[in-house]
Amino acid sequence: MTGREQFLPYGQQWIEEDDIATVIETLQSPYLTTGPKIAQFEQRVADYVGVKYAVAFSNGTAALHGACYAAGITERDEVITSPITFAASANCARYFGAKIVFSDIDERTYNLDPEQLRRVITPHTKAVIPVDFTGQPCDIDSIMEVAQQYNLVVIQDGAHSLGASYKGKKVGSQADMTMFSFHPVKPVTTAEGGVIVTNNQAYYEKLKLFRSHGITTTSYAQEQGDWYYEMVDLGYNYRMTDIQAALGLSQMSKLNRFISRRQALASLYTKLLQDVTGFRTPYQLPETESGWHLYSIQLDQQQLTKSRKQVFEEMRAANIGVHVHYIPVYWFPYYQQLGYEKGICPVAEQWYEGALTLPLFPKMTDEDVVDVVNALKHIIR
Ligand SMILES: *Cc1c(COP(=O)(O)O)cnc(C)c1O
Repeated sequence: MTGREQFLPYGQQWIEEDDIATVIETLQSPYLTTGPKIAQFEQRVADYVGVKYAVAFSNGTAALHGACYAAGITERDEVITSPITFAASANCARYFGAKIVFSDIDERTYNLDPEQLRRVITPHTKAVIPVDFTGQPCDIDSIMEVAQQYNLVVIQDGAHSLGASYKGKKVGSQADMTMFSFHPVKPVTTAEGGVIVTNNQAYYEKLKLFRSHGITTTSYAQEQGDWYYEMVDLGYNYRMTDIQAALGLSQMSKLNRFISRRQALASLYTKLLQDVTGFRTPYQLPETESGWHLYSIQLDQQQLTKSRKQVFEEMRAANIGVHVHYIPVYWFPYYQQLGYEKGICPVAEQWYEGALTLPLFPKMTDEDVVDVVNALKHIIR
C-alpha cells in the first residue's frame, strides 16, 4: 500500500478555535474595515520583524504594487527579479510599464545569484525584487551591497519567508521594503492579505496613500474644515478588512510554533530521503534559517527511469498533492509576447525541469511525511 485514503495537499492553512472566536468578535464590533485591528496587526508584524513600519494591503500582489509605487518605478525603468517565482513578483513592476529583467538563480539555493545580478544592471535599472523561494532567505547582504553601489531600491518578496532569518536577523529587517503574503498556503494567513514592512518613513507615507485612493488629510486640508480631504495621486482601494486583521493578529501568535513544526517536518523528510537516490534534497545556506514554506526536491533524470511528469502523476494517483514551483515566469505567453526568449536563464530552466514540491504544512503529521516518502520510494524504484 503506497497510496493514501485521503488527499494530502501541498500546503494548507491551520485555523483553530481562538482564530474563529476573534473573527466573530470583530464581526460584532463597530468596525469591519480600517478600524483598530488593522493598526494592531501592522504593529504586530513590524515588531515581530523588528522594523518601524508595516502597511497592510488586501493581498500580497497589491502590496508589491504599492512597493513599486513607493519606489517610484515608471515605464522608463528596468526592474530585476528571479524567474523562479510566482508571476506577481514581476507583474507588480509591469503595472507601471517597467521592463522586467530576469536574472538567473544560484544552482544551490534557487534564489537570485548576486553575481548574475551585477551583470544585468544597466543605467536604467531602478529596483531589484529578490525572492525568498521556498522560505529560504535570499543572500540579502550581497544583494544590498550591489544595490547600494548602483543606487537601486530593494523590494524583497518574502511571500514565503515570514519568520525565516538571515544571519540571525528576521527577514524583512534588511531590504528597503519587504512584502509578506497572508494567503492560506503562506506561513500564517488572513485569507487574502499582504504587508509591506520598511524602516523608511517616506516609503511608509507613500504606501498608505497608494492603498487608499491617493487620498490624504494634510494639515492644509484640515484648515478647510473637518470634512476636507484631498486626492493627491491616483491610488487604489487596496485596504485589508478588520476581520482579516483580527485573524492575522491571532495567527501571528502561532507563527513561531508553525515555523518550528515546518522545520521539524522538513528535517524528517531530509532524514528519510537521505539514502534514496534519484534526486537532491534542498540545500540550506549556512547562515540562514528557512521558513520552510516549500520542500522542493530536484529529480535527477539521469538516475531515474521515469520522467518528472510520470513521477508527478503517480504521486497524485497515490493521493499525494505534489506540485511544481515554479514555471519560469518569462515562459508565460504574456511575457513571450513581450519578446522574452527561452534560454535566457539556463540555471532556472534546468531547475524547473527537475523540480517537484512535496507536501509541507504545519498541520501535517509525521505519518503524513512517511506516507509521502514511501510513495516516492515506491514510484521511483
Ligand atoms: C503568494 C505569492 C505572491 C502574491 O501573494 P498574494 O497574497 O497571493 O497576492 C507573490 N510572490 C510570491 C513568491 C508568492 O508566493
